[in-house]
Amino acid sequence: MDGDRAFGALPTVDLGWDLVTAFATQPREKPADVNKGADMIAERLRRIGLTVTMHEPRLFLSLPGTASVVAGGRTFRGKPPAFSKAAPAGLSGPLLYVPGQSGDIMGSVMGSGPVDPDRYRGKIVVTEGMGLPMVLDALEKAGALGVVCVNPGERIHWGTASTVWGTPEVEDIARLPKITSVAVSNEDGLAIIAMAKAGGEATLFSELTTGWFPQKLPVVEIPGTVEPDQFVFVHGHYDSWDVGVGDNGTGNACMLELARLLHERRGELRRSVRLAWWPAHSTGRYGGSAWYLDAHALSFAERCVVHMNCDSPGCIDATDYRDVVMMPEVRRAVTDVVRRVAGQTAHGKRPNRSSDYTFYNIGISAAFMASSMLTPEKMAERGITYRVGGCGGNLGWHAEDDTLEIADRTVLAKDTALYLEAVLAFATAEVLPIDWRDGVDDLLAHVDGYQKTLGSRFDLGPARAALVHLRERLEAFAAATAAGTIPAKAANALLRDLGRDLVPLNFARKGPFVQDPAMTLPPIPVLGVAAEIDRFDADTVGFALTTLLRGRNHVEATARRATERVDRALGA
Ligand SMILES: [Zn+2]
Repeated sequence: MDGDRAFGALPTVDLGWDLVTAFATQPREKPADVNKGADMIAERLRRIGLTVTMHEPRLFLSLPGTASVVAGGRTFRGKPPAFSKAAPAGLSGPLLYVPGQSGDIMGSVMGSGPVDPDRYRGKIVVTEGMGLPMVLDALEKAGALGVVCVNPGERIHWGTASTVWGTPEVEDIARLPKITSVAVSNEDGLAIIAMAKAGGEATLFSELTTGWFPQKLPVVEIPGTVEPDQFVFVHGHYDSWDVGVGDNGTGNACMLELARLLHERRGELRRSVRLAWWPAHSTGRYGGSAWYLDAHALSFAERCVVHMNCDSPGCIDATDYRDVVMMPEVRRAVTDVVRRVAGQTAHGKRPNRSSDYTFYNIGISAAFMASSMLTPEKMAERGITYRVGGCGGNLGWHAEDDTLEIADRTVLAKDTALYLEAVLAFATAEVLPIDWRDGVDDLLAHVDGYQKTLGSRFDLGPARAALVHLRERLEAFAAATAAGTIPAKAANALLRDLGRDLVPLNFARKGPFVQDPAMTLPPIPVLGVAAEIDRFDADTVGFALTTLLRGRNHVEATARRATERVDRALGA
């Protein structure tokens, strides 16, 4: 990669735009429609000379149908989140208004803070928000009968209620939602809240179909010339809510163009680039990416150097790249690409647990989720009062009007350039542009933040010392790499393998071949309880301290294992 090269003209996106317009009239929500979408992608990939591997796993899906809330003699239109419990015959109970993000609900999410069971039991809770799975889960545990989620605007956004990532395994089954929930528009929700305050009752109706469906999953690989067994992985979902143009027809188009451009420039690739288009993102809670990882887990563990997700690029008015997501160890490389392509400085935003980020537990460094977003100024100008994560921040996200007007050809070209440059940075560099000094600095900052909160209540010192020692050895490794005393292949193997230790340490709780729940985890999740320490009293703080002691052991051991890897590479 030539870091000084001025960025040239934007690529043409005729092929991608052809897919965007075709997808604008092809729903990709129901299983048969989803498979049609895969065929449309594969047909275009073959047209440009690529060989497509079409997988077709059977995936566990929850397909939302109709829903409504009947209260005060009125019927309000609703949407049932995927995986919420169906109530075709109606579910009735007294309404209870609980303000969104209510402290006692979130207290029960965190596993601390008593919840008064009589408050929720048998009630239909009405609360503001998108119906986050962790909130629904907390209300289920608190004994609520059902939930009405009052969306922030005129639209009702589709969503999911499940905290299970991908197809459940045996021990996940119990965590599938057992509570009925219905999302309604803000105007209708405010009317229902008023009825709740007046002591009213409501009946929820919702229909969903759950079952196993064969879903197509196209993959292409453009082989590298020097280390072809190593690969950069780019992925994005092609199933959508309804026709989902901005989420994620534009992403599918971006990846199609990326495949075309990389195929043209295949002679430059040292490493291979693999691209996968996922089904079951919306109705399978990332079931496509989770299946693919499960089916190729050892290949990922041994050969994948970085992954990039492509969700909702190319949307109208989305010109802000400052919040592009990246892990700390790739911050220098990715911010450099953003600067060259978009002329903006990205902050290095930490990825959360969403959007097919299925590769935390196995430990793969990552960049990008969504890419370009509306600027705050553009949001204000257009009167957009709340943030959505997809469609570049356009409010058609997860709604009936995520249609062709949301896509923008010029923004799509810019985003395609961004992904292309990022992939080339990782696929062509002799030594991978991954800097674990930044990764460890990030871990140290989180440890220090937790220590500050804990004060004298618990000492994270041994974990910190092990990380500081690792940081010192990484400095020696960087010097040796710069001096060329470590062969590139060995350096790359180390940079890749450190991810297997340090990515899960920063982002995961459980082991490499399972999936953590689909809930946002705190940094260094095994120490996350430190941030909640003030919620515990004299009788319960011992539980938190037990968690912290185990977590500290985990951090210390992981840092030492990583240090041994570095020492081996240095021949020390
Ligand atoms: Zn999406």
